[in-house]
Amino acid sequence: MFRIGTGYDVHAFGPGDFVTLGGVRIPHGRGIVAHSDGDVLIHALCDALLGALALGDIGKHFPPSDDAWKGADSRGLLRAVMAMLGARGYAVVNIDSVVVCERPKLLPHIDAMRANLAADLGVAIDAVSVKATTSEKLGFTGREEGIAAQAVVLLQQVSA
Ligand code: MG
Repeated sequence: MFRIGTGYDVHAFGPGDFVTLGGVRIPHGRGIVAHSDGDVLIHALCDALLGALALGDIGKHFPPSDDAWKGADSRGLLRAVMAMLGARGYAVVNIDSVVVCERPKLLPHIDAMRANLAADLGVAIDAVSVKATTSEKLGFTGREEGIAAQAVVLLQQVSA
């Protein structure tokens, strides 16, 4: 039994000097406006994982109104989502993802992100793809107003 899911997330840039993506703290001239650490890649991934089992989205399970998640490390959210999947007998086969921004340049950080995600997902690093693109200076990402991420996951049932 296989299940597929997709996720998308956006956060605005704001005051600060780093962004967190895939659990990696990346120095940047701006920060991210968010209730949690604003890790768009992990948020998109969590929604893809939840979506694969039709379990809703992270806003449902980890509402911004709940102060427990204020400034939260999104890797904790990801591990909580993985526990929900595990309880239902599912494991990750692979994920693919893309982060959209003009800056910061992500290539030097991609493998560190993949390693973090692989650890939290319980898979080998070659089952985790993280890509980066710009939007050719078009739209909100092109104007460097915010950062966006998309993820797709494949799950396999490993126990009933
Ligand atoms: Mg988010």
